[in-house]
Order: sequence, then C-alpha cells, then structure tokens
Amino acid sequence: MPERIETESRKLLGRLRDTMASEIAGQARLDKITNLIADSMRTEVCSIYLFRDPETLELCATEGLKKEAVHETRMRLGEGLVGRVARQGRVVNTPDAPSAKGFRYMPETGEEIYSSFLGVPIQRLGEKLGVLVVQSKEKREFSADEIYALEVVAMVLAEMTELGVFLGEGAALSARHQQSELIRGITGQEGTAEGHVWLHEPRVVVTNPIADDPQKEQERLNEAVEQLRVGVDKMLEMSTASDKDHRQVLEAYRMFANSKGWMRRMEADIDNGLSAEAAVEKEQSLARSRMSQAKDNYLRERLNDLDDLSNRLLRILTGQGRETGAELPADPILVARNIGPGDLLEYGRSLRGIVLEEGSVGSHAAIVARALAIPLIVRAERITTEALNGDQIMVDGDQGIVHLRPDDSVVNAFRDKIAMQAQAQHRYTSIRDKPATTLSGETITLTMNAGLMADLPSLDSSGAEGVGLFRTELQFLVRNQMPKRMELAALYSRVLDAAGGKRVAFRTLDIGSDKVLPYMKPNDEPNPALGWRAIRVGLDKPGVMRMQLQALIRAANGRPLTIMFPFVAQYDEYRAARAEVDKAIQREERLGHALPEKIEIGAMLETPSLAFAPRQFFEEVEFLSIGGNDLKQFFFAADRENERVRRRYDTLNVSFLSFIESIVERCAQTGTPLSFCGEDAGRPVEAACFAAIGLRSLSMRPASIGPVKSLLRRIDLGTLRAVMDEARDSGVQSVRPAVMEHLRTAMATTAGS
Ligand code: PEP
Ligand code: MG
Repeated sequence: MPERIETESRKLLGRLRDTMASEIAGQARLDKITNLIADSMRTEVCSIYLFRDPETLELCATEGLKKEAVHETRMRLGEGLVGRVARQGRVVNTPDAPSAKGFRYMPETGEEIYSSFLGVPIQRLGEKLGVLVVQSKEKREFSADEIYALEVVAMVLAEMTELGVFLGEGAALSARHQQSELIRGITGQEGTAEGHVWLHEPRVVVTNPIADDPQKEQERLNEAVEQLRVGVDKMLEMSTASDKDHRQVLEAYRMFANSKGWMRRMEADIDNGLSAEAAVEKEQSLARSRMSQAKDNYLRERLNDLDDLSNRLLRILTGQGRETGAELPADPILVARNIGPGDLLEYGRSLRGIVLEEGSVGSHAAIVARALAIPLIVRAERITTEALNGDQIMVDGDQGIVHLRPDDSVVNAFRDKIAMQAQAQHRYTSIRDKPATTLSGETITLTMNAGLMADLPSLDSSGAEGVGLFRTELQFLVRNQMPKRMELAALYSRVLDAAGGKRVAFRTLDIGSDKVLPYMKPNDEPNPALGWRAIRVGLDKPGVMRMQLQALIRAANGRPLTIMFPFVAQYDEYRAARAEVDKAIQREERLGHALPEKIEIGAMLETPSLAFAPRQFFEEVEFLSIGGNDLKQFFFAADRENERVRRRYDTLNVSFLSFIESIVERCAQTGTPLSFCGEDAGRPVEAACFAAIGLRSLSMRPASIGPVKSLLRRIDLGTLRAVMDEARDSGVQSVRPAVMEHLRTAMATTAGS
C-alpha cells in the first residue's frame, strides 16, 4: 500500500473520529463528513445516500452537488449507478459516468458535469445501509488504493449509522433499530406471544471503529486470534472421532484461524486506521456479501464457517456476547438465524415465542417448538439484523407476522387479539372435563400428541383422554449420540407414570426424511421423503428398534403398553414389526422382567397403499392411526416441507375426504379401531368434517383440544354430513365453502353453549 494513501486514509479516519466526538448535530455532521472525504480524496463531489426503506435510496448529504437536492433526490434500488452499487453490493468505478450503463441523469443535483464516478456500498455485515460516492470533473479511473480507502471510510460510516450518530435536528433520518417494523415469515407453530427480544447470538456493537494506534490494535488482534485458536484446538480435542460433521466444521475453523490471507487483510485494515474489531467486521462483511452470491454449496458452507469464526473473534475483542451474563428477560422471545433442537430444549418453556431468520417448518427446532407449544415463525427475513436485545416484539404465529418495536395502535390491536384468545381459552377450560359429545349424540375421543416429558402436564390442563401419538424421535434427535436403553426406559416409565393410567401410544422411532440423526451417517437420497425412513430403517437395521422395544417393555413394568409403528406401507412390514415385538417379549420373559399386562400393537396409515391392504391386515392390526401429514403429501404428491406446494391442496378436498371415508369404512367392516393424528385433526373445521364422515378418535396438539371440543359440542353431525354430501354431489373441489357457511349459521343459533 503506497505511503501516501495509507497516511491519507488514516488521517481522514482521524478527522472522521473527531467529527463523531464533536457536539454537532446529525445533518451538520453528515455534511461535515462529505466535506472531509471530498477534501481528502481530492474530488469535487462526495455524497452519502442512505436507504429510506429497503427499496429506496435517498441523498442524505453532499459536498459538490446542489444542496437543495439533499433529502429530495431519491432512487429505487438498482436505478442509476448509485442504485447499481446498492443492489449488487459492489464497487462501481468509471471515468465516464454519463456513458456508463445504467447512468441516470438527475438535473436537480447538477451532476452531469462530473465525469468520474466511484461508488462503494455502505454495508454492515451484509446488511445494506447505503452508498458512498465520490465524483470528479477530471476523466480518470480511481486507483485500487483509492477504492480501498473509500471502502474503509464506508465501513466506518456503516458503524456510525448503526450507532445513530447522524440523528438529530434536520437530519431527517430516523434511528436505525428504533422504527417499528413488520416482518413477514412463515408459521412454524400457531399462537400469539408478546415479549422482549432475546438474541441467541447477540449482535456485537462496535463503538470504536477508528483507532489511532495501529501498533496497539495489531497486538489486540493478535491476542484475540491466539485466544480463538486455543479455543478451537480445545474444541477439537474434546470432539469425538465419530462426530465427523462437527469435526469437519472445527477443522475449517482452524484453517481460517491460521489463514495468513485473512490476517494480512485485517492487518492492512488496521494500518489504515481501523480498530481491531472494525477490521474483523470489515472482512466479515466482505465474506457475507460473497456468501450471498456464492452458488456452490461447499463454498457457502465455508464462508458460513468464516462468519461464525468472525463472530467469535468479535466477541473476544469486544467482551460482548453470551458470556457477558446478560439476563434473559422475564418474557423472552428468542430471535436467531437458526437454532438446534438441543439449544432450544435448554431454553425450554421459558420462551414465549421464537422467530428464526432461516429454519423450516419441518426442522428439528420446529418439531421441538411444536412439542413445547411455543409460537414459532421461520424465514423471518432480516430479523437478526433488525432486532436488538430487549426490543419489544409481538409474534403472530397464526398469520406468520412479527411486529418489532410496534406502534401503540399495533400493540392495542394485538392485545385485543390475545384477550379474545384468552377469553376463548377460558371457555375451553369450562368444558375441559366434559365429553366431546355432539348435538346429535356421538362422542368423539380427543387425545393429544406429545414428544417430551414436559408435554405430559398438558394431559390434565387440556382435558385430553390420553396420548394418541407419542413421537419418540425427539430423544434421539436432540443428542449427539444414540441414547442408551436404560435412559429410554427411565423416560418412558416417567411418561407412563405421568399419564396416570391413561393410554399412551408410543410411536417407534420415525427417522429419515426430514428427521436426520446427528450421529447417523446421512444417506444422500434423491428423495428422502420417499426414501429409507421410519419402519424401513427399523426393519433393515433392527438393532435400534429392538433396543427401543426392550426399553418400552421395561418401562411398562407390568402396566398396559401401546406401540405404534410409523409409515407402514404394506401388510408384511406390520407382520415383521410385530414379530420383533413378540421376540422382544420372549427375551424379556427369559431375562425375568415383568411383562405388560396387555399389549396393543398398531400401525400408522401414512401411505395410500395401506388403505388397500388385504382384509387380513385390517383384522390383524389392533388399531390404525392416520398420519394425515404424510398421507396428504403422498395423496396429492405435494411435499409437506415445500412452501410452494404444501398449502396447495385443501384437506377438505372431496377426493381426500372420500379417501379418508373409505378407510373409515374398511375399518368399520373389520371392527378395527381408527384414529387420526396429523395436524389437521387439531383444526376445528377439519375435525368436525372427519367426525361427520365417521372418525371417532382424533389426536392433536394439546392447545387444539379446547377449540375442537368446543365446536364438536355445538354441531349436529348428521346435518353437517348432509351439507358435505350435497356439496360433494354438486361437483365442487372442496366442501369447505359450504361447510363454513353452514357452521356460521349453526354457530349463530347455538352461541354460548
Ligand atoms: C403424520 O405424518 O401425520 C404424523 C402424525 O407423523 P409426523 O408428522 O411425525 O410425520
Ligand atoms: Mg408421519
């Protein structure tokens, strides 16, 4: 780096720091800065454009362009050269701006007389904040050193914007992280919650981007990197050889921590006047913008590793982070880019809500959130950059909306909604101990779905008559190694204790597809939902299934036991699984353990094929439970994890209802007990329609029992059935409109019952 630029850049940063420390107000400060930059860069023009909203840039200060244009000139993202810099997050450097592609003439600024243009993005950790531009009359291309100097300044500007130093009289800029925001995401778990933000990975705030003692900053950086290296080595020592994926990530960390290129770039940043933490952040910003453009998965992963490592380094340097002992608020809403099931379980029920920037509806975190009945929103764009620890936040899990720092009007409307739900909840409590008996006299058994010990108290509070589906995979998913038989037996035994004699249908391990065990070699399957999963794994590798069956028998310790096999696609699979239970019983008997007083063995009907199994299967199986989530995805060939198609087909579609009805009829012929345990069972209207076509047992999330029971108690199944039949006969695609119309009228006459 030539000496002149180095010193110029450092000198400029020094002057910038003085401006930051001075008393001058927001706009005057911005004006001063553009003046300083133009002077140092020896250009006639320097302008700062900042985002007004995610699509619009506004000229916020200028030296050289017409002052009247400030806060008047705006452009859309991608529009003109400035818009191009912002959109691409990349430098534009041209000696002849008016003939450059995308140039937009803005008469109000008087800029046509400037020929050379250099624009650099102002961004902080991949978040776009604006564009910094210098222009000159002289036709010249800016040198690499000049670009570098302007980038360093833009980085400092980003930090200053973040710190709100441009706020104040006349600045016409509102504070970042002070405005209210509505962020849309996707519902992972319904429900509403109000509370305060708790960032899983707290955002590091750099308050000292500029430093005048490069020597000292260099030492701070070296010490922090050393501490980081030691930390990574220690983690590597502690990780086991079988933890291959984890080790791979750590090896990548180590590679970066020892990377000379990374260090060299940060040292150059420090030489140019940045503090150690600002240098780390500058490189991290660069990596993030590369990450957003990288097409190659491997490269993206490595850039992701570098990002994590930079975060660790920033925490060491600033002393901020989880280690600072910041206290969880009383009403925490967890905000994170993503979170693993183990971490989520550690927070447990202390959380009021969860908002993830990434994540998916079927992720392990979502499964845990659902089990904990905590409202969850996934794919909430920008949430981790917009939210700060302690911000007020409202989560509308029903609509998939997050209100961050909401206005009073939003707060009031939201609280009204919560109050209405609480009222409804109160109504549900009053019918908790009453049966789900319809006006026409049929009684429907309502049970709950569970997956954690922590779910069991809901048996009493919800009024569920038992556990219709206990998903056993959670204990396997949240660990780093296979759980031991004794551990499982102890847990299942506690579940049975807590159920106090109510029936619990334990579903054997349902892994594969979206549920991948961290300690099992992943199978690179072209179509995992149709692949090696659930009972297919259990039968091919019976070791785990045998261990689980043994644990269940021991947990029962003489009490009745109910076992359900997932994803049975044909009769033989059920027979083979049943044979495993018989063998397990014989083995336990030989070993002298108490045998269950009664054992019930059922299957989940999750593939259409099983609905057409031979009559003997229906005679032999002791009960069937329709796994509607999977059954529906295979019936409509619409992936339940794919946002594009997962809501495309209505459960009340006449084809699907006719199919369910045919299963009800087959079971009726053989007297096979049948229930439905997919998510749809917990939706009141769907539940009512299932009851109308003959289902007499439904299993759902505990929170759904009240609403479902409340509706069932107010309807006449015969009349509802007639409405559905009439709609079906009329050739409609879904009976929903007719059913909704009917229920609205019926509810109006039975309100309050
Ligand atoms: C289902 O498929 O409907 C079901 C209950 O099982 P899971 O959602 O766990 O696949
Ligand atoms: Mg399933």
